[in-house]
Amino acid sequence: MAGIAAGRALAARNIDFRIFESNPTIGGLCRSIERDGYTFDIGGCHVLHSRTPQTMTFVAAALDQNINRTERRASILHQQTHHSFPLASFLSELPMRERTMAVASLAWARLRLRREKNGTTDLAHWLRYTFGERLARQHYIPYAEKLWKLSATELDAQPLRLVVPPPRLRSFFRKSDCRRSHYVLHPASGGIQALAECLAATFRNRIYLATPVTALERRGNRYFVNGESFDGVISTLPLPTLVGACTQLRSLVGGATESLRFLSLATLSIATHAPPPFDYSWVYIPSQTDSLVHRISCMNNLGVANSIGTSLVAEITYPHHTTFPISKALIRRVVSSLAALRLVDPSTIQFTIPHTFSHAYVVIDLRGQELRTLHLQAAASLGIRLLGRFGEHRQANIDEILRNAETVVGDICKTH
Ligand SMILES: Cc1cc2nc3c(=O)[nH]c(=O)nc-3n(C[C@H](O)[C@H](O)[C@H](O)COP(=O)(O)OP(=O)(O)OC[C@H]3O[C@@H](n4cnc5c(N)ncnc54)[C@H](O)[C@@H]3O)c2cc1C
Repeated sequence: MAGIAAGRALAARNIDFRIFESNPTIGGLCRSIERDGYTFDIGGCHVLHSRTPQTMTFVAAALDQNINRTERRASILHQQTHHSFPLASFLSELPMRERTMAVASLAWARLRLRREKNGTTDLAHWLRYTFGERLARQHYIPYAEKLWKLSATELDAQPLRLVVPPPRLRSFFRKSDCRRSHYVLHPASGGIQALAECLAATFRNRIYLATPVTALERRGNRYFVNGESFDGVISTLPLPTLVGACTQLRSLVGGATESLRFLSLATLSIATHAPPPFDYSWVYIPSQTDSLVHRISCMNNLGVANSIGTSLVAEITYPHHTTFPISKALIRRVVSSLAALRLVDPSTIQFTIPHTFSHAYVVIDLRGQELRTLHLQAAASLGIRLLGRFGEHRQANIDEILRNAETVVGDICKTH
């Protein structure tokens, strides 16, 4: 998406460019498939939302009529019971006993941990402080550890601190206003890839598909990508891939690149001939023992057109540099775990399709920020501009990428 967003911004300014894409199709994580009338976001279910109205207007204009606006309804499954999510917005809906214990543990955590608050950097500590021991232990820490495949004490809380507002004690007693803003956009047809397709419509001929970047070099004021000469470069490649392609960058960062961490993602697209088994956009599954899946989404509940049945997408993360052992037996195991949680009825399944993505999440562990800064500074010293989730090495979403693409391209225009 970052390459396409940059292309869109460059094309709007009549600047000539080329995009190198290693896959035979565009979209990256925002790829979708349509099969036998079913639509799936294969890089995990994606929705569009932004705190910036201009970004939403931009997205809506790009998608034209092909857009649905739905309420984002998420749940977290605990002991076979759905709790509306984010918990911070729905605390007043917890059963009375559960709510009382959660309030008590939050008040206790705030008192006990108040003095340490400012120094807190690890995720486990921050979750305990922010949500109280009970909610942290029951929901947040297990989910974080299942998703990240790391102990929450090893993860940096900073990225989450910036986006997750701490619950107010009063939200335990009355419904939160946060609910009003939980509306999201999704293409009505074509899945999330429809956004990439629309944005790229006017410059398809400038995209080299199935063309991985293998060599990048700066010579004087020129940049050579796979031997082709350019005035400037915006890299959306994962930083290790960029460093691997650019000897000059490698000499600046040394062996530090090996310590950058990522998570890979396996998804299972599940087509059923039955109506949706749940009425949430998606369901989080924090328990490690219940299922390998940490989230299952229902494309129908995002307004995706489907007259035949239901399109479900199950997500499983796995450590980068390992191979996910996709097999029929594993798919059966995944499906039966979801069936036990009543999230799918196996007798209604028409087909399943697995996919894997080597780069899905940037892992910011306690050294992550320092390593990121080192790489960003080294790239800047060579005049290489970075963009995207893996290009900038942070948990960027689509809206942020669209905004940053404008900034990066605007900056190029000023310089050249
Ligand atoms: C499960 C999941 C759910 C998400 N849900 C949402 C959501 O609901 N809303 C939201 O806004 N964001 C969401 N995101 C985040 C969103 O997917 C990313 O922000 C966005 O797709 C990142 O785009 P990108 O271009 O930076 O990276 P990518 O999409 O990974 O694209 C990188 C591209 O670089 C290409 N590439 C790699 N190596 C080379 C090479 N050597 N040469 C040439 N090309 C190369 C890849 O093929 C790929 O196309 C989600 C992410 C995940 C994992």
